[in-house]
Amino acid sequence: MARSELTVDLAALRANVRRLLEVLGDSELWAVVKADAYGHGAADVAHVALEEGARALCVATVGEGVALRRSFPDARVVVMSTSQDADLDAARTARLELAVSQPPFPDGLPLHLKLETGMGRFGMARLPEPLPANTVALMSHFATADTDPAFAALQLERFRAIAGAHPELTAHMANSAAALRLPSSRLGAVRVGLALHGLSPFGGDPSADGLRPVLAWRSRLEQVKLLQPGESTGYGRRFVADEATWIGLVPVGYADGFRRDLTGTAVLVDGERCPVVGTISMDSFAVRLPRELPRGTPTTLIGDGLRAEEHARVAGTITYEIATAIRARSDRVVRSVVDG
Ligand SMILES: *Cc1c(COP(=O)(O)O)cnc(C)c1O
Repeated sequence: MARSELTVDLAALRANVRRLLEVLGDSELWAVVKADAYGHGAADVAHVALEEGARALCVATVGEGVALRRSFPDARVVVMSTSQDADLDAARTARLELAVSQPPFPDGLPLHLKLETGMGRFGMARLPEPLPANTVALMSHFATADTDPAFAALQLERFRAIAGAHPELTAHMANSAAALRLPSSRLGAVRVGLALHGLSPFGGDPSADGLRPVLAWRSRLEQVKLLQPGESTGYGRRFVADEATWIGLVPVGYADGFRRDLTGTAVLVDGERCPVVGTISMDSFAVRLPRELPRGTPTTLIGDGLRAEEHARVAGTITYEIATAIRARSDRVVRSVVDG
């Protein structure tokens, strides 16, 4: 038996794509599947997204794009991050489209010119003249779509002032948060990642936006023991029992992606919320039990109503980092795909 199991629910994914298409109206949905689809599995997610009506796939690197091309001979695949010169031949061979944020502008493949409008990261302050003949789109990226709508609106205004002169090119700027909350940002296409996977870009409950989590992560109690008052569990003795306390040990640790700063978060033991106590080890963590429970009791780390957003809050990070940290491709975890 694997130490833990990841389940990817394609029915939930399908429902999310439909929900997003409903919201988007005339804008195209481009499915962002970088970082192995936020830990969910790029090929599985891309397949469902395209089948349900997404019009392009977006990845971060040429390597990710080349890998997708093998499974999707006809899909548009857009590489959003900067590419190295050494990758250009591979990108052309795989018929990828590239975002570029500075000259020189490569030929032989479609370009998305990236504009700087306030992210302060990659992007050009103004368009080159003349535009490279292989330009197909203009793009920009929001810094605060989830936190500061006024600044997002300012960025959008800057982008439209430039992109408006080129109605023949596809304009795209919105990420999940903007696609959901800033309708005027939807333009020609939106690049949606997190929301597609049923995770909330606002750190709250995704069901508020009609979305369903796609990923579940489950394990079990590997050993159950009674700590006497004064006894501790784990490195550094960070949890010391002040009374007789049942604890369960779950064979998942930070090497699996259950981060070390998740002490204090909750997991579901046989459906009941229980606190993670003590220092999380590389290969296991401890959970405080309400009573003695049998070895093998099912324990849910994410899913069954327990949201990744809650873990993010405890760890002081964002849901993106919780999802992409999970080592879905390691031999410690069994990954299964279900449909409904
Ligand atoms: C990751 C990424 C997105 C998707 O963001 P979400 O918040 O996950 O929807 C969109 N655009 C760019 C440039 C990105 O890097």
